[in-house]
Amino acid sequence: MERNIYIFNILFFCPRCYFALRPQKNNEFAFFDKDKGYLIIYKFKSNEKVFKPISPGFTPHLMIVTSYNERVVKYQLTCSIKDCGIEINRSYDPELPFSIDLKDIDDYTKEVEVWRNFLNRAFF
Ligand SMILES: [Zn+2]
Repeated sequence: MERNIYIFNILFFCPRCYFALRPQKNNEFAFFDKDKGYLIIYKFKSNEKVFKPISPGFTPHLMIVTSYNERVVKYQLTCSIKDCGIEINRSYDPELPFSIDLKDIDDYTKEVEVWRNFLNRAFF
């Protein structure tokens, strides 16, 4: 198994958010910025295409690929909405204004082909 870790933003169903009628405008969520290499906090807005709330329960998730080989991919998945799958700890330090705790991570193992199909449908 390789040791590199990859993070993807995907849209996925979250039962807790479904019952809480999330996402809604102004809900905060963590988004992994590939170019910068770290997590950013976004808020849902009603007038933006990508981050517009789509339908209840379909929320941004973080997929963290922890290991893979040519047969299987092992990854963790968490809803990235604040107060659901993540907590945001804010500080007064301008260099590090917040940190993010992942609260509710599930572990998965999928065959590479199944995982690719899954990504193709859910990527955003
Ligand atoms: Zn959720």
